Amino acid sequence: MTRHDGRSPGELRKIEIQPGIAPHAQGSVLVSFGNTRVICAAMIEESVPRWMKEQNVTGGWLTAEYSMLPYSTTSRKPRDSSRGRPDGRGTEIQRLIGRSLRAVVDLEKLGSRTLWVDCDVLQADGGTRTASITGASVAIELACRSLVTAGKLSVLPVKNRVAAVSVGIVGGEVLLDLDYIEDKDAEVDMNVVMTDKGDFVEIQGSGEETVFNQGQLDTMLAAAKTGIANLLNFQNSALSTL
Ligand code: UDP
Repeated sequence: MTRHDGRSPGELRKIEIQPGIAPHAQGSVLVSFGNTRVICAAMIEESVPRWMKEQNVTGGWLTAEYSMLPYSTTSRKPRDSSRGRPDGRGTEIQRLIGRSLRAVVDLEKLGSRTLWVDCDVLQADGGTRTASITGASVAIELACRSLVTAGKLSVLPVKNRVAAVSVGIVGGEVLLDLDYIEDKDAEVDMNVVMTDKGDFVEIQGSGEETVFNQGQLDTMLAAAKTGIANLLNFQNSALSTL
């Protein structure tokens, strides 16, 4: 089967990871999964949240924020600041990004500092959370490298890289890295987050008005695993040129 954009079922969209997009951030990239484009920036603050001091928690912290820029969608999406309340979907996504990144950062080694990660969607076409995680992994590594370069840390506090991809069932077929057209018709929608050691960080999967069986789950996970291995190669190329 050929997909509406000419891809085969297990093929990623065109992936690009462009570092240095936001020069004031210690680490940043513009990540593209096809027409989904996200700016991921990591900034270091030389302090930790108050709750950590109060609870005598040692080491550092990492926190992530996610938002879709108003012009990232075909009809303008109002900013949370104008709506006066946060958007539930965005809150869920930023927690996922934070968990995924904390799984690969050694917070003890980071020391008493906070890594702020901002993922802002420039263009949304499905898979904004998976592109955010994949790009942010590169952004935090760049930010952490700057700490080593500045002599503030002797070792990189990054244990692993992490990448994520969506996979779903559309028209009975398992498809990798769904774009919006595919996503809106998907019978099953799943987001898979894995490290470069091949371990899972998180799997979010749900049947949308349908169910899925063990065999389909296995096929989806296998497709996601192959996709993530490819995404890790793109991260590696982006980081090895610097
Ligand atoms: N989307 C949108 N406006 C919204 C939320 C979603 O246009 O307020 C579109 C957008 O293209 C997004 C897609 O729907 O990428 C799928 O959204 P989902 O919540 O599944 O998250 P994502 O796949 O982006 O991680």
